[in-house]
Amino acid sequence: MPRTFPEGSFIRAVLATLFYLACFTFVSAKDEMTSSLLIGNARIDIRIEESTPRIPTNDVLHWVKSAAESVAAYYGRFPVPQVLIRITPFKGTGVRNGMTFGDRGGRITILVGNETSPSEFASDWMLTHEMVHLAFPSVDEKHHWIEEGIATYVEPIARIQAGNLKAEQMWLDLVRDMPQGLPQVGDRGLDHTHTWGRTYWGGALFCLLADVEIRRQTNNGKGLEHALRGILDAGGDIRREWDFEDALRIGDHTVGVNVLEPLYAKMKDMPVTVDLDSLWKQLGVQFDGAGIRFDDNATLGAVRRAITTRESATAQDPSFLKSLAVYVGQAVGLRDRHGRVDRNSG
Ligand SMILES: [Zn+2]
Repeated sequence: MPRTFPEGSFIRAVLATLFYLACFTFVSAKDEMTSSLLIGNARIDIRIEESTPRIPTNDVLHWVKSAAESVAAYYGRFPVPQVLIRITPFKGTGVRNGMTFGDRGGRITILVGNETSPSEFASDWMLTHEMVHLAFPSVDEKHHWIEEGIATYVEPIARIQAGNLKAEQMWLDLVRDMPQGLPQVGDRGLDHTHTWGRTYWGGALFCLLADVEIRRQTNNGKGLEHALRGILDAGGDIRREWDFEDALRIGDHTVGVNVLEPLYAKMKDMPVTVDLDSLWKQLGVQFDGAGIRFDDNATLGAVRRAITTRESATAQDPSFLKSLAVYVGQAVGLRDRHGRVDRNSG
């Protein structure tokens, strides 16, 4: 799929969709409403189940658009051509229980409180996390840590690159949460230790180490995002089942240095511990008890800056990202398959 979307085509696509709007305004399912959002060449269908009071549709669409823009900023495009997001309201506030599936071209189910405020939508991480899941192939269950690790690590970077989060907040969260990814007593490596901490934060630690090492070995020319884009561009999205090591091989090949495969060989069967305090220091991340300060003279200060810098020309082209169009349509059937279930916070 092309990464760019010429402005002329974009306008034609929007006009076509607005025409579609005219066609479908009078067709409404009894108990739910479906809207669609176009981002580049991808279509996101958003189905909101009926509730009383209703969830504000505009807030939901804005929230979905922000998450989609974040993921597109990181990957240079939205990961799959089409996805269905099914939103089930609950009484209260916040966003819960995101799940992402590879069937029917990709779909996400998520619960949204009917009293969720615009600022709560703006600070939500979960939908971006779910959309990141779309961008990596399904791998064997024992490697589930890589699926959650990528989603955990990439989500804040993607939001920073799209202007939806501050870098200071991400590093503050990493300093606070990354220790949960370190091996505890009895750990047998990432492939054999399926605790919550090792799955989400152990996987995120693998990603951070890989990102830093790729950038170090390439003088900041490439990073994990380029390896992940290479895997995605080779067809490795959630709709496909892949051998995990094939994905790593393609990632390494894309960035031209051998980092992912050796790091996996090191961490898969062994409780590899990491001196996080030393890593933060090298990256120039200083926690002063209240907040984060950056030391640009640190050894890996340039690496830290590059991790959160948006580099893609495609993502910087506002015509690529400004693409919202809505219509009301009819429901389509759903069936369940194994999915990736995410907890409420952390
Ligand atoms: Zn997840």
